[in-house]
Amino acid sequence: MTKTISVVLTSGGINSAVAAALEAQECRLALLHLQYGQQAQDPERRAFEALCDWLSPQEHQIATLGDWPQLTGSALVEPQHDIEDAAAVSGFAAASTFVPMLSPIMLCAAAAWAQKLGAQRLVWGICADNPGRYPDHSDTARLLAWQLIGQCLGDRLARKVEAPLAQYPKAAVVSLARQLNVPLDATWSCLRGGHEPCRRCIGCVARKAAMAPVAAKKN
Ligand SMILES: [Zn+2]
Repeated sequence: MTKTISVVLTSGGINSAVAAALEAQECRLALLHLQYGQQAQDPERRAFEALCDWLSPQEHQIATLGDWPQLTGSALVEPQHDIEDAAAVSGFAAASTFVPMLSPIMLCAAAAWAQKLGAQRLVWGICADNPGRYPDHSDTARLLAWQLIGQCLGDRLARKVEAPLAQYPKAAVVSLARQLNVPLDATWSCLRGGHEPCRRCIGCVARKAAMAPVAAKKN
């Protein structure tokens, strides 16, 4: 029987790498990497390409969302705005790196490609930890995006937005990555650009914390 096609939004980070590896067990992969002017665009692209080398997806695509997110003034896409360190992210407000409406735009772009490919699955690799407190990572936002996509494509909600890691804290995702032999060293988590991770942003700090239990076991 022909395997179903799964479109996976693949940033180059740990979560999406694990989501893609899980999908590869049952589906034919179509990996989509979106560029939107993020400061870490170059290392994220290199991480995506490394993941493609490892997984050999049936399809892979790098697409750009143009300058649209710069309308938002998010620090994630405006280099003149410094990204705050994780220690400065507190309370219930979203971090300065939150790009309003970015996630639904990404899901809609992935849905368009899924329709072109005839893909039955649309996968988003978010996990339960949301250190930037981005509101569009909520279950409700994902459900509404799914409903919007179904209505706009006229496919009566056939392509559900799957988030297989949504209930997993990042430390559990890292454990899963090791079980699946995901090349973690090739993934990128830092929100700042550059050749080396800054080790201070929410991406770096969340990565280090998720790796910590594994490192502790080794000691
Ligand atoms: Zn960083």
